[in-house]
Amino acid sequence: FKKIPSRGKSNNELFIMTETFNRMMGRLEESFHKQQRFVSDASHELNTTLTIIEGYANMLRRWGTIDEKVHRESIEAIYEESKHMRTMTQQLLDLASSQQNEKLNVERFDMLACCKHVASLVSKLNSQSIVVHSADKEAWIEADAAKIKQLLLILIDNALKYSKRSIDIYVRNGTENLEIRIKDYGIGIPSSEIGHVFERFYRVDQSRHRKTGGTGLGLPIAQSIVKEHQGTIRIESAEGKGTEVIVHLPVS
Ligand code: ADP
Repeated sequence: FKKIPSRGKSNNELFIMTETFNRMMGRLEESFHKQQRFVSDASHELNTTLTIIEGYANMLRRWGTIDEKVHRESIEAIYEESKHMRTMTQQLLDLASSQQNEKLNVERFDMLACCKHVASLVSKLNSQSIVVHSADKEAWIEADAAKIKQLLLILIDNALKYSKRSIDIYVRNGTENLEIRIKDYGIGIPSSEIGHVFERFYRVDQSRHRKTGGTGLGLPIAQSIVKEHQGTIRIESAEGKGTEVIVHLPVS
């Protein structure tokens, strides 16, 4: 974008118009660059996964019929990478939808019951236990229940993925805001990295994500859902001790 040169302060009105125009152009340019970076990051991530699938498919084609080990390993890797790619494409769609300012499907529901429900669903698939704590019997909120469930799933999934022990969820009722804290006792996040984990595709340990199946899109989606609800999300963490994600959501 080309900026209009400012003509000095002699003609005040023209000066203000020029400055406003230049500021608008600056913002447009910034959002254009962000979009460009996102497309290039997404393409890079999908391309990496496809390269791995292609490599194993090629190995299977050349040696798969004569080598049983290659056969088994290749099929397993292709299956895992395809699953990873499906998760990533689904998450990219989720991210796009939560950033398009679509209308929320707001309903009144009990957040405490919702947390217990999601926790029991996830517990069935995991050996780690999830304990939901609250001083209140109920915690009513007006929000998009499907999106809030997705938010809880992302945060619980992370807590379980990066920790071997059980995790705790605390729900606190307030007059204006409701607080949800998801606490794990796992590997934690180095303080220098906490500021980056909400960036798309950011992973603290790039080499670890293949094992954990992470995409680096979970927290950006979580942040987007919280923003759509005019809430806040922040992380407190200590390396080697654990992580706590604190979400505040307006009750209505
Ligand atoms: P991923 O799919 O890789 O988990 P996220 O966007 O959900 O992506 O998280 C980004 C990165 O933040 C993760 O790769 C991980 O390094 C770090 N992270 C997120 N949650 C936790 C947690 N509870 N404990 C430790 N590290 C975490």
